[in-house]
Order: sequence, then C-alpha cells, then structure tokens
Amino acid sequence: MRALRLPAWKTEPELVEVDEPTPGPGQVVVKIGGAGACHSDLHLMHDFEAGALPWNPPFTLGHENAGWVHALGAGVTGLEVGQPVAVYGPWGCGTCARCRLGIDTYCENPAGAPVPGGGGGLGLDGGMAAYQLVPAARHVVPLPEGLDPVQAAPLTDAGLTPYHAIRRSWSKLPPGSTAVVIGVGGLGHVGVQILKATTAARIIAVDTRDEALRLAEEYGADLALRSSEQTAEEIRKATGGHGADVVLDFVGADATLRIGAAAARTVGDLSIVGIGGGSLPVSFFSVPYEVSIQTTYWGSRPELIEVLDLGARGLVRPKTTTFRLEDAMSAYRKMQDGTLEGRAVIVP
Ligand code: NAD
Ligand code: ZN
Ligand code: ZN
Repeated sequence: MRALRLPAWKTEPELVEVDEPTPGPGQVVVKIGGAGACHSDLHLMHDFEAGALPWNPPFTLGHENAGWVHALGAGVTGLEVGQPVAVYGPWGCGTCARCRLGIDTYCENPAGAPVPGGGGGLGLDGGMAAYQLVPAARHVVPLPEGLDPVQAAPLTDAGLTPYHAIRRSWSKLPPGSTAVVIGVGGLGHVGVQILKATTAARIIAVDTRDEALRLAEEYGADLALRSSEQTAEEIRKATGGHGADVVLDFVGADATLRIGAAAARTVGDLSIVGIGGGSLPVSFFSVPYEVSIQTTYWGSRPELIEVLDLGARGLVRPKTTTFRLEDAMSAYRKMQDGTLEGRAVIVP
C-alpha cells in the first residue's frame, strides 16, 4: 500500500510503498476512511530536530483517523470486521493510573507505551495510508450512528483538543460570560461550535484571515475580530470593560499570547493550545488577578466519546475538504498559505 511518510526531521513527507500491516495479539487494523491534516504535521515537517521529541521519523503521518475495522488480532473481542470506528490517537501504557482513566495523553509510564509520548502519526505509523495498525483494541472507538469516517476523523483531534480545553473551563462559562477563540482554523472553528453546543457563553473569534472569521460567524461566533495590536482593547470594549472569562489560544505565538493575557478577565482562564513557539512573561502585575494560565494537550478517551456524540447529533460538524492521498501535500500547502477552509481530510 502507499503511505505518506515523514522520512526525517526538516524534510517534506513522501508517498512511498510500504507493507500492509497485520495485527498481532490484542491489536486491530483499521481501513482508513479519513485522515485529518493537522497543523502539528507542519510543525513536524519544519520545526523539530532530533532530540526535541521522545521519538523520531520515519513514520507515516496522520494522527486524526477514522474508518472501518479491517482485521482483528488474536484475543480481540467486542469489535467486528467492517464496523465504523474512530481511532483514539494518544497511545499510553494502558496500565498506569492516568491510562486507566482513559487519559493516555498524560501516561505516567511512557517507557511502557508503544512509543513514549506519541501515537499513530506521531512516532508510529499514522492514518495517511490505506490501513493503520492500532496497537491496542482499547484505542478503537465505535462510531455512533449518523457519523461517517470523513466527519469523524477531524473530531478525534480538531474536535477532541478544543473540547478538552473548553470542558475544563466550563465552570467559568455561565450565561453572561464571554469566551474568546484565537485562531479559527481547523481546531478553532470546531472550538466555536463546541462552545455554542455546550455553553451559553458569548463567543468572540479572532483571526488574521477574513475567510476564517466568516466561517466562525457562520458557526455561531457573536463577534469576529481581525487580529491586531488593538484586539485586546476591542475585546475589553465588547465586554463592558471586564474582559473575557476564557481565552483559548489556538495559535500560541507571542502576539496572540499577548492578546490573551491583556484580554482576560480577573479569575479567568487562558488556555494555550497552539504550538506557535511564543512565550508569555508572567509576573504579579503582568496578567489580571487570579487568571489561570494553562497548556492543554489533546484529550481523553471518555471525552472523545462525548465529542463523537456531539458530532453524531449534528451539534458539532467540522467543515471538511477532502483530498486524495496523492494530493495530501497540496492540503498541507493550502494550510500553510492560509487558503484552506476548516479541516482537510485525506481519503486514501
Ligand atoms: P490551522 O492552520 O488550521 O489554523 C490556525 C489558524 O490560526 C488559522 O486560521 C490562521 O489564520 C490563524 N492565525 C495564525 N496566526 C494568527 C494570529 N497571529 N492571530 C490570529 N489568528 C492567527 O491549524 P490547526 O490545525 O487548527 O492547529 C492550530 C495550532 O494548534 C497549531 O499550532 C497546532 O500544532 C496546535 N495543536 C495543538 C494541539 C494540542 O494538543 N495542544 C493539538 C492539535 C493542534
Ligand atoms: Zn493534531
Ligand atoms: Zn500509562
């Protein structure tokens, strides 16, 4: 089969011929119906060098995947060949306290994981190929009725990551509150929908691209602001001077972190999700009192099941553009150039 593989750090991925995987005991092979293209893949191609992450290329890209069960390894029960499924992407050891709760993202025994701190498309082979080997059946989540693999694939990361970040801030988003979403691309435009579906907060979207802002408004943003030096002030003005109860930064650059810190309300949350390489000086007077600043990484398996439910009920619908495996690189180029709408999904 053909696979889109990252051969080394700081290189372009290439489409190469590889063997079809066969499942060992407890493992599952998934026939890929959709593999989402994430901006993190662009970071993998351009920003990292050997030693920066606990794993290295070569591996097949694609860490947001859904499809159908293709083959079951010895001892796997509860799944059937042909059944539509999503793949939970972060793969921990399976036995530590965190993994037992389905929080493989924060596995505390990385040496016991198939790859430390990674998963399929992140150190091990991902879904940009006809088939993907999933090393443990617990990572294979049956799709609820009403959700096809192309819709489900982006929910496993572009949906799950904002869902996890928003969920931990739910208590700060009662009616009358304001949430700001900075960067309404693949993750952010789903984040707007998740805020709309699970909270009563007023939503302010911030981006550098007018098309992204239009998409955010289409999905329920109450106010869309072009990212600039004035953005924080505009957010304060729009909130009666109070600021935003929750800021979700899906960019993570110096400029957006500055906006987030200046726009946050006292006792608010600033969640840094984007891996834009920026930093934020924190001192007694640099952020409003009692603002909590946190990074978040992906989400848990139980949360994935909740996101898939939102998707199946039509409450969260990622805007997708599909590409053939041969054209995957053009999807990444569009993402880089800012000409992609919503999420690109590769259909091998
Ligand atoms: P994307 O390219 O689809 O979207 C990024 C959006 O940010 C675009 O709409 C772009 O126009 C906008 N943007 C860029 N610079 C901006 C600025 N200065 N101000 C406002 N908007 C700006 O990317 P994506 O796939 O949604 O990923 C977003 C970020 O999240 C990436 O850095 C990615 O690596 C990271 N990510 C993190 C996690 C995690 O678990 N923390 C998971 C997935 C992705
Ligand atoms: Zn991702
Ligand atoms: Zn673990």
